[in-house]
Amino acid sequence: MQTIDKFNFSGKKAFVRVDFNVPLDENGNITDDTRIRAALPTLKKILKDGGSLIIASHMGRPKKNPDPKYSLEQIRAHVSALLAVDVKFAPDCVGEEAARLAAALKPGEALLLENLRFYAEEEGKPRGLAEDASDEEKAAAKKAVKESQKEFTKKLASYADCYVNDAFGTAHRAHASTALIAAYFDTDNKMFGYLMEKEVDAVQKVLADTIRPFTAIMGGSKVSSKIDIIENLLTKVDNLIIAGGMTYTFTKALGGQIGKSICEEDKLDLALSLLEKAKKNGVNLVLAVDAKIADDFSNDANSRIVPVNQIPEDWEGLDIGPETEKRFADVIRNSKTILWNGPTGVFEFDNFSGGSRAVGEAIAEATRQGAFSLVGGGDSVACVNKFGLADAVSYVSTGGGALLEAIEGRVLPGIEAIRGY
Ligand code: AMP
Repeated sequence: MQTIDKFNFSGKKAFVRVDFNVPLDENGNITDDTRIRAALPTLKKILKDGGSLIIASHMGRPKKNPDPKYSLEQIRAHVSALLAVDVKFAPDCVGEEAARLAAALKPGEALLLENLRFYAEEEGKPRGLAEDASDEEKAAAKKAVKESQKEFTKKLASYADCYVNDAFGTAHRAHASTALIAAYFDTDNKMFGYLMEKEVDAVQKVLADTIRPFTAIMGGSKVSSKIDIIENLLTKVDNLIIAGGMTYTFTKALGGQIGKSICEEDKLDLALSLLEKAKKNGVNLVLAVDAKIADDFSNDANSRIVPVNQIPEDWEGLDIGPETEKRFADVIRNSKTILWNGPTGVFEFDNFSGGSRAVGEAIAEATRQGAFSLVGGGDSVACVNKFGLADAVSYVSTGGGALLEAIEGRVLPGIEAIRGY
């Protein structure tokens, strides 16, 4: 497989798919440029080699073309400043001007294409279908956009000599620029960018080259959104810690009193079957034993510590209790591979963030002792940032949905398109 480090970009034009889907305020100012900064090592390496950049990204979910609210022109100046290069802009990613600007690029120059998702062809999903469209109409529209997607993809590919995918955030999508485009470049001319390499390596270390004991901590609000992940992890982990709102579905399934804690009544059987599966697979499934409960869903609610299965009516569990913190931390400290997804409680409320902090600190300690720790998927990233622990774990993933799908054991189209599996 080609790698960005081995590849000499001198005199080459590189089509680089990045994830510059950054949040903007109402005046179009970037409020968090983490995603742009994350791609800089890749972009800088290409420029330093004497290559030229064709930078492509999506932003938001535009429904028309053009849609100024989602124009990437808004970020051009900032990208220029970060790269210390005057980045040119192509106002239509597959227009004549884009082709002309790409063809004219000289070594060390960069071109930013307008939002790829201004075209339905990027995602390959039909747009503008009437609400009452028949199944035949839907099928015909889908077929039409898939057909025109080929031309769109070919056009994008025609700008460049090589393809670099550094957009892990969209690696779980089989879109034109994230996966299909790779077919237009031979194996030696397509590769992951540095960010993508790090993400793929981290997932590999956790799920494939696992050093045991392997512990996963699954938190968050609902079992239903984590079923596939838990099922897959039950075939891989030594310890599975279940925390967060999911706790109460499990506790209720086991006959406990959970008051008005968050619970998915229709998932009680599922919770029992997951417990059964854990037993069958020899997985140590660790549940909370005590809870920090509140008489209201607010930071300032009255709170108490009670056994997790004895929560009074009108009270709800908003975090794990101190005994559970200790149990979780013991398991985590004795682990060599750790995956953390989802807080142990409502970490947004300072008074109910103690469990998540304790888990984060135990992971940091295990990491100092040589464990490999991967944190990712939505709120866990906010959690480690809140507690200032991002540098104390081995890797914090930048990909929410993509990471979760990888942990579910799915092949991600953006990775497969380059690596072949
Ligand atoms: P998820 O997106 O599924 O990872 O869920 C994260 C959210 O779960 C966070 O916003 C937490 O506040 C929430 N959460 C965690 N524990 C609880 C709980 N015990 N009750 C209600 N919400 C919770």
